Amino acid sequence: MRNYDVTIIGAGLAGLQCARLLRAKGVTVLLADRKADLSNGIHTTGIFVRKTFEDFAFPAGTLGKPISRVSLYSPNLRRSGLESSLDEFRIGRMDVLYKSLLNDCVGSGVDFLAATRFISVETYDGGSIVTLESEGTPVRIDTKVLVGADGANSSVAKAIGLDQNRELIVGFEEVYERAKQHNDPRLHCFLDAELAPGYLAWIADDGHEIHVGVGGYAAHFKPRAALKTFKNKTRNIVDCRGLTFVESRGGQIPVGGVLKKIANRAGLLIGDAAGAVSPLTAGGLDPCMRLSTYAADIIAESVRTRDPSILLQYSGNEFRARFVSRLWMRRAISLLKSQTFLELGCALLRGRLGNRFARHVFFGRGSFPDKRALGTYRANERPTL
Ligand SMILES: Cc1cc2nc3c(=O)[nH]c(=O)nc-3n(C[C@H](O)[C@H](O)[C@H](O)COP(=O)(O)OP(=O)(O)OC[C@H]3O[C@@H](n4cnc5c(N)ncnc54)[C@H](O)[C@@H]3O)c2cc1C
Repeated sequence: MRNYDVTIIGAGLAGLQCARLLRAKGVTVLLADRKADLSNGIHTTGIFVRKTFEDFAFPAGTLGKPISRVSLYSPNLRRSGLESSLDEFRIGRMDVLYKSLLNDCVGSGVDFLAATRFISVETYDGGSIVTLESEGTPVRIDTKVLVGADGANSSVAKAIGLDQNRELIVGFEEVYERAKQHNDPRLHCFLDAELAPGYLAWIADDGHEIHVGVGGYAAHFKPRAALKTFKNKTRNIVDCRGLTFVESRGGQIPVGGVLKKIANRAGLLIGDAAGAVSPLTAGGLDPCMRLSTYAADIIAESVRTRDPSILLQYSGNEFRARFVSRLWMRRAISLLKSQTFLELGCALLRGRLGNRFARHVFFGRGSFPDKRALGTYRANERPTL
């Protein structure tokens, strides 16, 4: 049996960020993911907001060109435009980013097991025995702290008795590429109760990479069929037929806010597993970077002092407080089931007050906790052990 201070299940953005920071603090880390290759089965559009690329340094070549314009469309495709003087969004090249972060982890001494699934855990006072399965073979690990970074439907959360996500939407998109850089990078967002019930449809276009997708409550639509209709409906805005198809992406997004019980003496949850997603925009990349950074501080202290009760200090309260109004807005939007109401809502957004509100949602920075949960990712930084 192998021993590690920390075992992290899931090498998405949350797991990679946490592993890297823990290793830099001298903690021994095992990182395991069921994927054989992290660039397969990517499920996110990868739009990073300004606050994230201001606060975290990204490795070169991992972000697309900046986007500072947003077009918001009603069900009848009536458009309102928002423009910022700042670079508001950048689409991550997620395959390159995951690989770069993984290289950094492995280079600094994190042990990584690909194609390895979490199976079960038995806890004892001060640690646990984790059973993984790697290509059909059981692998047993003795670890002081178990971290669930295994996404929206976390098996770790269930296994160690932490809260699980209950409110989820689904997103499905297709990714295309342009041969030549186009010079009107723009985020197009569409409100449509039929094609994206309770959420949005989108075309995120940074001039090179184009993501066309729909999201909403699974019970109220069929994402693949909705995407097909959506592409036809928006052909005059961006016509995908002349573009190179890259891949389809999709998955579930927790939108119920950060969960209440995300830590106990055996371990803790980060990223989607902890519900760390803005309930309104369904953006989870920034919260998962911040929560993982905060988690790494707490875990390192617990390992250093050999005191598992330190883990109990970890909570998502800072996020939850900021997500309250967004949670209510999500509930309000999910009740708007008629196209007529949405059309009316969009007309209001075209007015002066509505426009201010839309700017606040798209360009505001109100949902980011600044204190504690902040760290800086430096591509070439190597920890001194
Ligand atoms: C279609 C879609 C579009 C999105 N677009 C955006 C966006 O543009 N901007 C934004 O901010 N947010 C977006 N989100 C949300 C965002 O992608 C997530 O919040 C974020 O990626 C969560 O990262 P994570 O590391 O917590 O989880 P994940 O990226 O889900 O990583 C979890 C990892 O755990 C592994 N795993 C799961 N179970 C096991 C197991 N039993 N054993 C071993 N490994 C396991 C998985 O293979 C995976 O690699 C989107 C989500 C979806 C579905």
